[in-house]
Amino acid sequence: MTIDRFDLLTTAPAEPFADAKRRLAAAVEANRDEIVGLSQRIHADPEPAFEEIHASAWVAETIARHGFAVEHPVGSLATAVRGRLAGGQGGGRPRIGILAEYDALPGLGHGCGHNSMAASGVGAAIALATLAPELPGEIVFLGTPAEERGSGKGIMIRDGLFADLDAALLYHPSDVTGVECRLLASEDIYVTFHGEQAHAASDPWMGRNALDALILLFSSVGLWRQQLRPDARVHGIVREGGTAANIIPSRAKAWFMVRSPREDEYLEMRDRFRQMCEAAALATGCTVEVVFEGGASTMHHNRTLDRRFVANMEAYGVEDNPPVDNLGSSDMGNVSFVVPTIHPSIAICDPGVPGHSIEFRDLAAAPRADEVTLLAATLVAQTAYELFADPALVEAAWKEFRGDA
Ligand SMILES: [Zn+2]
Ligand SMILES: [Zn+2]
Repeated sequence: MTIDRFDLLTTAPAEPFADAKRRLAAAVEANRDEIVGLSQRIHADPEPAFEEIHASAWVAETIARHGFAVEHPVGSLATAVRGRLAGGQGGGRPRIGILAEYDALPGLGHGCGHNSMAASGVGAAIALATLAPELPGEIVFLGTPAEERGSGKGIMIRDGLFADLDAALLYHPSDVTGVECRLLASEDIYVTFHGEQAHAASDPWMGRNALDALILLFSSVGLWRQQLRPDARVHGIVREGGTAANIIPSRAKAWFMVRSPREDEYLEMRDRFRQMCEAAALATGCTVEVVFEGGASTMHHNRTLDRRFVANMEAYGVEDNPPVDNLGSSDMGNVSFVVPTIHPSIAICDPGVPGHSIEFRDLAAAPRADEVTLLAATLVAQTAYELFADPALVEAAWKEFRGDA
């Protein structure tokens, strides 16, 4: 299904609160140029995890212009943003979080389309701001750095920035549309082998080769894969493998990731990986440092909120699809264990375009992605509105979250 442009002004939104939802859609449409412009600007200036200096500043400026009280930075991350806007109906609860990622991939750019996500989150916040006088509670916009590496949201959780929220909403661009997002538990692993330098021709017996240790580790991982479940993942790159062919390398570095859809299996994989590092060091007479960082968890689904998002989406002719098997990881998983969370994907292109590719990167700035950005802003705002307007929905989401639904 290819839709060139969603008609945000004339399409009848899903009940309940269809009239307010229509006004939200109109507010997104009225701010079209600002929202799409932001997506394009972020796309053209890709900044990797923790370095989203321009993107976070642009996001902060934009929501400040629309009435949000902005903290930038907020918490311990220099590129994190929080914008708050109290509703005109007495403040208090609920506090609904609208999230935006804006990091890019090193050497690739916005191959995950976070430019579209950032602009849609800002668009949803702008639209909700126009209705703030009639809302209770508080609209909480969170600009969340470092999704691709380092689990920025995990750090923001430790900074207390999710502590008082009642829901966390965002959208992710994809090649397929589906509200259910299965996530793999995942972690970055930085491995450094230390050996002993020596002349590789005149006295190699004096050396201990750190690169050999690293090659052994890659071999062990390759053999390990035949005993892993099909949905487990382990993959890595060499970051440093020596400085010259005639020097036995004294240091070699790799960056790996280990992932699994089951937390218990993931913990086993983590232990096994560490043992392989130690075995490779032992075999080569080297030492090894293994640093685990930026853990992302699996997804704690909230079907109550998922269903509301799907109803809102289907009103615009976009159908939900069952989850696909090409799983990834996200620090949104960490958020999903703190507060009721949704992580829906909407297709910005035809199915089959791989994420984290040049093709997907280019499509993330194409006209179809811009239209999906505006639609996603509308749907996130509409789903947030339902939470503001219906205390029973907030309660139902928390009930399901606690497991007593
Ligand atoms: Zn992403
Ligand atoms: Zn990604």
